[in-house]
Amino acid sequence: MSFNETFFQRAQITTPGGVNSPVRAFRSVGGTPRFIKKAEGAYIWDADDKQYIDYIGSWGPAILGHAHPEVIAAVQHAVTQGLSFGAPTEAEILMAEEICKLVPSIEQVRLVSSGTEATMSALRLARGATKRDKIIKFEGCYHGHADSLLVKAGSGLLTFGNPTSSGVPADFTKHTLVLDYNDCAQLESAFQQFGSEIACVIVEPVAGNMNLIKATEAFLQTMRRLCSEHGSILIFDEVMCGFRVALGGAQALFGITPDLTALGKVIGGGLPVAAFGGKAEIMAHLAPLGGVYQAGTLSGNPVAVAAGLTTLKLIQAPDFYTQLSQQTQKLVDGFNRIGTELNIDFCADAIGGMFGIYFCKEVPTSFEQVMQANGELFKRFFHAMLDHGIYLAPSAYEAGFVSACHFDHVIETTINAARESLRQITCK
Ligand SMILES: *Cc1c(COP(=O)(O)O)cnc(C)c1O
Repeated sequence: MSFNETFFQRAQITTPGGVNSPVRAFRSVGGTPRFIKKAEGAYIWDADDKQYIDYIGSWGPAILGHAHPEVIAAVQHAVTQGLSFGAPTEAEILMAEEICKLVPSIEQVRLVSSGTEATMSALRLARGATKRDKIIKFEGCYHGHADSLLVKAGSGLLTFGNPTSSGVPADFTKHTLVLDYNDCAQLESAFQQFGSEIACVIVEPVAGNMNLIKATEAFLQTMRRLCSEHGSILIFDEVMCGFRVALGGAQALFGITPDLTALGKVIGGGLPVAAFGGKAEIMAHLAPLGGVYQAGTLSGNPVAVAAGLTTLKLIQAPDFYTQLSQQTQKLVDGFNRIGTELNIDFCADAIGGMFGIYFCKEVPTSFEQVMQANGELFKRFFHAMLDHGIYLAPSAYEAGFVSACHFDHVIETTINAARESLRQITCK
């Protein structure tokens, strides 16, 4: 038995499903998860010493490539000064200043330790600041695992949601209205009916948790306008797309200003840092200034902040995002060429350093279209690619991530592996 298999069996004895986060278990593609030993640049190595080109990048954080020497050095230095104090530090000021500088809609920011904490806190803040309970989210968007966000659409178009997880009381989701992504008309009717009761709209301005789906500009503009008209707070959940699609995130790319933003993934550079922030007048509702409670023992942890701050400095290098986008586009162009070459329903799309691959004719623009893609072919493609040493997300509903270390030869190797894999699985 391989080390991966042995580890997976052992892990399942003491850890539910053998993993500490469900998607890692390979349930939607089958087979044995790879247990990772180390990572460097664009590569990771599993327990059996097989090398892979990594397109997960820890689900986004590894934008500089794994184990960037400057990030490692900053962490090593921080560690020598003590691991955690439970008291404020200068580095947290620097981190906050950097975030506020790079994302102008954020006048004040609070650091937390996970994206889930960031969105959950932003939601409570929005409700506290507006003194309203109802919220709007969109089908297929993931905002972490807070109770009122684990919800799917109710039976009717404008009925409130039902829990998608057991353990979430229906009472906790009855204030959440779930609408279709990229559907402006639904937004209009929801606000027409409930406008004065809606605390906030929370959205991934580039959706990366139902594969990659880009929001249309009209969709984001409509929600911005409706929120302003009705005194509701617009929350951009940029935990994934922040500092991933552009410096300054999707809001910089689209030129739309949310009231609150949630950040995570990239801003921790691989360690647990996330944040939420926005208008100072809204942030003033947070404890200790206001009545909305939020706290964290390890919030702003000095070691984690050292990794985050160094990462934020390095991504400001001239042309960083131009190059990242170019490399991602080369990958996607390659995938699209092969789809045409082999005459199969296979296509890809990219934005900044994120991409999606789809087993369908055209790039999807809605959750419904994503669900119609060929899941069986994806599974086979995933495993064929893995055999070829290419590590893609083990689910057809996740985006892919490129790093600054995905140089031309890395992209070429990937495209060639994709051609071989697609030939194998379609017998062409
Ligand atoms: C990953 C993610 C989260 C949750 O972040 P965690 O750090 O996993 O808790 C929230 N929102 C979006 C858009 C994400 O991609």
